[in-house]
Amino acid sequence: MDKKKIVVVDDSTTVVKFVSFALKNKGYQVVTACDGMDAMEKISALDGKINMVITDLNMPNVDGYTLIATLRNDVAHKELPIIILSSEEGSEDKERGIEVGATSYLVKPFRPDTLLLEVSRLLNPDKIIANNNHNAD
Ligand SMILES: [Mg+2]
Repeated sequence: MDKKKIVVVDDSTTVVKFVSFALKNKGYQVVTACDGMDAMEKISALDGKINMVITDLNMPNVDGYTLIATLRNDVAHKELPIIILSSEEGSEDKERGIEVGATSYLVKPFRPDTLLLEVSRLLNPDKIIANNNHNAD
């Protein structure tokens, strides 16, 4: 099976390294970007063939809100799981993030386990349903 490809976007190299390390350890393929513009260039270079985006909100050039809104405008990425990783705890940021199309929102700092659980949950929605569905035959 192909490795799931996750794009990690943050202007903090520390966060990018931390998140990449955790994801690679779990066997995910990681593409990193330093802001929304860099992310859009890399996603386009990959022909849009990605499985998830994990993004910061406050970044230079193109911020996370714009990145998410741009992705959602593309039919190919209507269902793409997008997780926001932000140090903004305010509910306004969260609401705005979800409004522009994010799937999920995690506040920094976070435990790697929390992120990995969320990633797995969003990438394998069928698996969770299957586990709860004890089929007799
Ligand atoms: Mg930032």
